[in-house]
Amino acid sequence: MLAKTQPQPIDPSPLLSSEPPLLGSSLDVLTAWVRRHDQPAYRGKQLHQWLYQKGVRSLADISVFPKQWRQAISDVPIGRSELHHRSEAPDGAVKFLLKLSDDQVIEAVGIPTAKRLTVCVSSQVGCPMACNFCATGKGGFIRNLQTHEIVDQVLTVQEDFQRRVSHIVFMGMGEPLLNTDNVVAAIHCLNRDVGISQRSMTLSTVGIPGRIQQLAEHHLQVTLAVSLHASNQTQREQLIPSARPYPIDALLDECREYVSVTGRRVTFEYILLAELNDRPEHAAELASHLRGFQSHVNLIPYNPISEVDYKRPSNKRIQAFVDHLEARNIAVSVRHSRGLEKDAACGQLRASIAAQNPSK
Ligand code: SAH
Repeated sequence: MLAKTQPQPIDPSPLLSSEPPLLGSSLDVLTAWVRRHDQPAYRGKQLHQWLYQKGVRSLADISVFPKQWRQAISDVPIGRSELHHRSEAPDGAVKFLLKLSDDQVIEAVGIPTAKRLTVCVSSQVGCPMACNFCATGKGGFIRNLQTHEIVDQVLTVQEDFQRRVSHIVFMGMGEPLLNTDNVVAAIHCLNRDVGISQRSMTLSTVGIPGRIQQLAEHHLQVTLAVSLHASNQTQREQLIPSARPYPIDALLDECREYVSVTGRRVTFEYILLAELNDRPEHAAELASHLRGFQSHVNLIPYNPISEVDYKRPSNKRIQAFVDHLEARNIAVSVRHSRGLEKDAACGQLRASIAAQNPSK
């Protein structure tokens, strides 16, 4: 019974030790947090502003807080990642390598145009889907990203460009619908707290049985993009091994369901690989699947990665594919990937190289 009479060590800040990072929290949650620290409610608003508008990295830097309290809470994690490396492509796209608290490295890409600043965010460290044209899949899967690790990517780009982020695409490393809870929480935070419209966000998925329907139940206003990449099941399985248990018709049915629940049009992404899936008969087959479907096809000319020797089709072949679809009344656009020179374009993001070779 000795333990009972022995003085217990006093934890000076019991609230601090096991707290999750603050980034990702709403104003209400932050207000409740400051109240738990015996501070007036208006400090919640201040905290919210410093986290999301000023992009503060340590609570010790919130100069409007009383000095003593600031010191007491200075160890509470905010959830900002460390900038490991930054490289700018000649076209103005900027690739950021971010080091997470467990030393894993992820990539985010800032893509500026005159009117927009888009961030391509990662949802996982690595990716388990192993699509055979994609660099991220080659490195395997490490873990899901936490909500704050997703939000941080957007704040980092915003801070670096000194300009408000207008658009977000969940098209970086990882499969967002294998991390739906954290991705949806990040979407809410980016919308509610950072002020980016859901309609300016696009979530891209390769399609996991049941997950698109599950996403629809969140009734978000984001655009759903689905990586179709082939006009029939046989070819899709060759390119995307994870498509085996998921027939293309079942995937399209789930997409139709998404449209009817959310009222939002779906985008179908289609990577163009020369001589492989870019022939007129592929365009015709694709069009036959999408006839009468409230959708849009986004063609992505293949961006080269070292492990495979697919080829990007010539501009003439790309245009011919567009013409075939348009002739069948399919809405179509071509994605001009940015950041190619810095391996920052679609499908070129990878965790392992990012960690070892930040020189590129
Ligand atoms: N896991 C999600 C997000 C992936 S990245 C998904 O599969 O949709 C976003 C897009 O880039 C996807 O359509 C993906 O298939 C495509 N992509 C992957 N590798 C590519 C490459 N080498 N060239 C062009 N696009 C690629």
